Amino acid sequence: MTKKIIKIDRDLCKGCGICIEYCPKDVLVGSDDLNRYDNHFPEVLCAQRCILCRRCELYCPDFAIEVEG
Ligand code: SF4
Ligand code: SF4
Repeated sequence: MTKKIIKIDRDLCKGCGICIEYCPKDVLVGSDDLNRYDNHFPEVLCAQRCILCRRCELYCPDFAIEVEG
């Protein structure tokens, strides 16, 4: 089975939450931590639930997410 990898470049993130909102499987959650621009970036809660739809990657306005798998 191919490994699912959700790469998040935390410092590109502006904390809009779109990726979290539009993920159909609740894979992502907002981090308690802040990036260098004081934005709450997303974290992967459960990669196993990911169906590789790539909505997070496509909808992120700042190209902060890349999905491989
Ligand atoms: S690829 Fe789809 S299921 Fe996987 S984290 Fe992104 S939005 Fe969620
Ligand atoms: S959609 Fe992009 S900019 Fe918005 S919270 Fe997610 S990673 Fe950050």
